[in-house]
Amino acid sequence: MSTPSFAVEFTRVRKTYGSRAAVKDISFSIRPGEFFSLLGPSGCGKSTTLRMIAGFEQPDEGGGEVRLNGKLVNHLRPYERDLGMVFQSYALFPHLTVARNIAFGLEQRGVPRAQIGDRVKKAMDLVQLDGTTFGDRLPPALSGGQRQRVALARALVVEPPILLLDEPLGALDLKLRKQMQQELKELNKRLGITFVYVTHDQEEALTMSDRIAVMADARIAQVGSPAEIYERPRTPFVARFIGESNFLEGDIVADAGGRLTVRHPAGTFTVPTPPGGVVGTRIHVALRPERLLLPDGDAAVEGDNSLPATISHVIYRGEMLHVRVAVAGGGELVVATRNEGQLRRPMAYKPGDAVRVWWHAEDVQVLEADPT
Ligand code: ADP
Ligand code: MG
Repeated sequence: MSTPSFAVEFTRVRKTYGSRAAVKDISFSIRPGEFFSLLGPSGCGKSTTLRMIAGFEQPDEGGGEVRLNGKLVNHLRPYERDLGMVFQSYALFPHLTVARNIAFGLEQRGVPRAQIGDRVKKAMDLVQLDGTTFGDRLPPALSGGQRQRVALARALVVEPPILLLDEPLGALDLKLRKQMQQELKELNKRLGITFVYVTHDQEEALTMSDRIAVMADARIAQVGSPAEIYERPRTPFVARFIGESNFLEGDIVADAGGRLTVRHPAGTFTVPTPPGGVVGTRIHVALRPERLLLPDGDAAVEGDNSLPATISHVIYRGEMLHVRVAVAGGGELVVATRNEGQLRRPMAYKPGDAVRVWWHAEDVQVLEADPT
């Protein structure tokens, strides 16, 4: 038998609670071994999607197909699916020792007693929990990070081909969270297990994922690699939710040589002609702050587009400076520039200065409308 091409496959899956859709006809597929994240704001349908993979929820009747390794599983119970799951709350049994918590899934599957001790120890090694120190402890006597590791070991011990994680690091402080992010990513690559990871933290998703599905309002707004999501956001929602973005809009007044000329109240600029960009229509584009350029003294700026603006604030961010500028007749833009050292080489601009803000036409992203 050939290996199925997808570990997880959703085809137009819908889930409604009462009259409200928690998930609206979503389709995506996850490759074996991938670290795949579902990213979006609270309430957008991430957990519902994950719970349909796990089998704790079923799609509506006639509401699409869920496949695992090519097999239709819409009506399979959770224990009939070969999965591990780590919940945000960890869901450890408080009255069972760490070792018994981890052994639970093996006991349920009828693994012979003689093998259980060894496998529990192996799982604890994987998550770097010392068996001698922690094996006999009860969960209430553990720190948040240790509980998180127990929950992970408990899911990994059954050697699932797919591991589902629902905001597993949410309760940890920043330093431990960063460390666990690295460790989870390493486990994914080392064990070859497919990870499906739910988070509302865009930085976490960008750092850890092979691919990300950005969810908004019960739908998938975009699926892509971190670079595709960040550098080619498809809709205003994605551009805004992941990182910071500037937005410009204007009327398309000409189309020549693969470039559109766009009229903005402060002047014209050009963009590479997108599919469906037609003279006489309106266009919306996004521009990342770090793609905008300010002239450095008299040095020439390398950019083929610019608009006149007035500096309104310079915000000190440490590694970067964020310069807010007001564009004539058209709102505000943020320019992010590297901090060259304000004590030794202070930035030349102050509020009130007139400047031209520059960029490369290729660095703008033409946006589609958000779905309604
Ligand atoms: P997320 O995990 O992205 O925060 P959820 O998938 O938990 O979002 O929820 C999506 C929507 O479905 C929310 O509006 C939520 O209130 C609703 N919802 C989730 N589970 C249930 C349920 N068991 N009964 C009714 N509504 C639910
Ligand atoms: Mg959730």
